[in-house]
Amino acid sequence: LTVEQLLGINKFMVDDEEAHIVLNKEICASCATKPCTFACPACLYTLKENGEVNFDYAGCLECGTCRAVCPKEGAIAWGYPRGGFGVSFRYG
Ligand code: SF4
Repeated sequence: LTVEQLLGINKFMVDDEEAHIVLNKEICASCATKPCTFACPACLYTLKENGEVNFDYAGCLECGTCRAVCPKEGAIAWGYPRGGFGVSFRYG
């Protein structure tokens, strides 16, 4: 199986009312390297044509990589999803 196929096996309960990861766009804009755009294993951070980072928390694997690699304090407010929400890993 490819990585994409393996990720597709997981199940997600997306919390539409409360994002568990929130991006501060102002602080994020001051980041020159934007490592989140290539470190997130689920590719949830993407670069728009204008250089802004686009982020969607649906599909988050709750790995914490974005929090670890982000060089800008306060750019990413990170938490786990509320109870009953988030990823359910299957086959590992
Ligand atoms: Fe991506 Fe992991 Fe951050 Fe979720 S916690 S957005 S999967 S890097």
